[in-house]
Amino acid sequence: MFFRPRAVSLVVTLLVFLFATATTSAATSVLPSTHVLALLTAQVLGTSSQPLMPANVSPHDFNLKPSHIRRLHSAQLVVWLGPELEPYLAKIMEQIPQQKQLIISNGGSGTGYGLHPWTSPAYLLQGINQLSQRLGTKWDDTLWLEKTEQLQAQLSQHGQSLSQNGQGYLVYHDGLDGFEAFFGLSHLESFTGADDQAPGAKRLASIVQLAEDGKVACILVDHEVKHRLIDAVLGPEVKRIPIDILAANSNDLADYIRALQKAVLACHLTA
Ligand SMILES: [Zn+2]
Repeated sequence: MFFRPRAVSLVVTLLVFLFATATTSAATSVLPSTHVLALLTAQVLGTSSQPLMPANVSPHDFNLKPSHIRRLHSAQLVVWLGPELEPYLAKIMEQIPQQKQLIISNGGSGTGYGLHPWTSPAYLLQGINQLSQRLGTKWDDTLWLEKTEQLQAQLSQHGQSLSQNGQGYLVYHDGLDGFEAFFGLSHLESFTGADDQAPGAKRLASIVQLAEDGKVACILVDHEVKHRLIDAVLGPEVKRIPIDILAANSNDLADYIRALQKAVLACHLTA
């Protein structure tokens, strides 16, 4: 009596499993535009996909080649950041049917994630949910939420001890906006703006002033960094901490966010 329903439910489970596997393998030609989006799609699919652009290339300076265009046309689903954040894809994506593309959106509310929204855990989670919904799969966010809460607690403690000393951090390139908005952090000043324009004299003078006042605990430097410019403005006592905004050194989405957090935690005066 007991075994029959169990056997039936086992068969159902097996069928569901087979079906799910079939759906997933049908979706293997998901094409994420960036490496961070590749980590995001890997969370949902359980397998990694080769992104359109290499991990170490900034979306600010990417040029499409014919081979990229072929890949975009042959993918079953292109996952990208949308025409504003990836203008080099805007024109070609107009030719690709809506059902073959997924824009990880900012929620349309200008949530303050800035030009690098993928550095925000909330944005990434939203992207995971969007993709799961599109593929008809389910993703359990419990662990993700637990982890980000942990990171938040450590960051607020660190931020408190920095501000008690009247200190903060600089960024070379204003590319951590999403992460900062999510965790309630803000940098003192940046050398270049979000789109990497060269700093003006006024901005450099303000950085010099901050350093002279002993307010600069460190500078976070990413792929855009020009060390000679920093050397001209800041002394060696200001620690330079590498920060991997493009996730070039991460193979996992949660590790990526943790690495960003670790960089901020590493920011304190050595003196
Ligand atoms: Zn930027």
